[in-house]
Amino acid sequence: MRFNTKLLHGRSTQNYAQREILPPVSQVTAFRYESMEELRKVFEHKSMGFAYTRIGNPTVAAFEQRINELEGGMGAVCCSSGMSAITAALLAVCRSGDEIVAGSGLYGGTIDLFRDLEGLGIHTVFADELTGEAVKPLINEKTRVIFGELISNPSLRVMDVESVSKVAHEEGIPLFVDSTTATPYIANPLMLGADVVIHSTSKYINGGGNSIGGIIVDGGKFPWDFDKHTALAGHRKYGKMAFSVRLRTDIWENFGGCLAPVNAFLSFIGVETLALRMEKICRNACKLAEALNEISDIEVNYLTLEEHPYHKYVDEELSGYGGGILSFRAGSKERAYKIINGLKYALIASNIGDIRTLVIHPASTLYMHSDKETREKAGVYDDTIRVSVGIEDEEDLIADFTEAVRKSLDE
Ligand SMILES: *Cc1c(COP(=O)(O)O)cnc(C)c1O
Repeated sequence: MRFNTKLLHGRSTQNYAQREILPPVSQVTAFRYESMEELRKVFEHKSMGFAYTRIGNPTVAAFEQRINELEGGMGAVCCSSGMSAITAALLAVCRSGDEIVAGSGLYGGTIDLFRDLEGLGIHTVFADELTGEAVKPLINEKTRVIFGELISNPSLRVMDVESVSKVAHEEGIPLFVDSTTATPYIANPLMLGADVVIHSTSKYINGGGNSIGGIIVDGGKFPWDFDKHTALAGHRKYGKMAFSVRLRTDIWENFGGCLAPVNAFLSFIGVETLALRMEKICRNACKLAEALNEISDIEVNYLTLEEHPYHKYVDEELSGYGGGILSFRAGSKERAYKIINGLKYALIASNIGDIRTLVIHPASTLYMHSDKETREKAGVYDDTIRVSVGIEDEEDLIADFTEAVRKSLDE
C-alpha cells in the first residue's frame, strides 16, 4: 500500500462493530463487561478490550494505528497534546541525574519544558546544529536521549537524521524526533534512522484547526541497555518494546494525559486528507516565498529557496518539499506589526498547520519567555513574521502579502 492509499485504507478501517466506514466515536468513560472474570482478564492484558478511556479507547486506538502505520512504527500512544506527548516520551527514558541533548531551534513550549525538567534534575544541553558532528561532543555518560525537530519552526533548520542517529546509536542512545512540521507525508524519521517520532497532531495531521492532540510512535528497533537506561529496567523483559510498554503502562497512564475520543475522531478525519493538503500548502508556501523574496528589503526564510543553508535536505530528507512554514524579516518590529495588521486573508493566530493561512509575530508571543539569545537561536528576531501557509488560491495569498508589505511603507 502506498501513502495515499494508506491514509484511507490503513489497518484501522477494519473491525468496527457495525461496519462503519470511520471509527465510531466512543465518547464514554468506561466499558462494561458481562462478568467480573471478563473485566479482570482485560486488566491482566489476557484478553483484548477496553476498561477505562484514560487507559484505552477504541476511537483513540484507531487513530493510533493509522498514524503508526503512516510512520512505519511498531506501536503508538496518543496524548492530550503535543506537549504532553513530548513530556511523556522524555520522562519514560529520563530520570533525575540524566541528561538530554537537544537541538536549539526548538518550539517555544519545548524550550520552556526543558527548563521545567531542570527542576526535576534532568539537564538539557543544546546543540547549535543537529548533525552527528555537532552532537557527538555533547554526549556523556549521563546522556539518555537525543531530541530534536526534523524541521525547526520558525528557524527552518533541518536535522541530519542519518548522521545524528548514527552517532546516537554508536553511543547507545536513542534519537527522538519531533516531526510535527514535516508531517508523515514529507518524511518518515523512523525510516531515516530515528527511534521514536513525536507529533503535535493539533497541527498538520488534524489540519482543520479543531482539536489539540499529540502522538508518540515507537520504531521498536532500539536495543535498550537496561544498565544505562535504568528508567526502563523494570520493563527489561519486553526487550526492544520496553519503551512502548513503560510509556503506555507507566508514565502515560499515570500522568493521565490521554486524548479525548472526539479529538481522536476529528484528527482521524483530518489526516485522511493530509496528502492533498500538504501538496497545496507546500506549493503555496514555495510560491509565496518566491514572491516575497523579490521584494528587496524583506529577508525570506524558506527551505526551497536556492540560497537557504538547509536547501540540500529538501531532496535528501523531505521528498522535495519545503513544508508549510515560512518566515520573513520586515526590518523592524513596528513594520512587522504593520504588515501583520494589514493582511486581509491571513489570520492573526498562534497556530500552524491549519488549512487557513495564519500569521504571528513570534518574538512578542510564542517566545516571550525566552531571552534574546535563545530567541535568536530559534530564528526569532524582533522583526520576524511567521507564516503558516494554508490552502487558499496562491494568487490571492501573494496579493495579500505583497499589498500589506507595500502599504507598510506608507506615511
Ligand atoms: C505545536 C507544537 C508542539 C506542541 O504541541 P501542542 O499540541 O500545542 O501541545 C510541539 N512541537 C512542535 C514542533 C509544535 O509545532
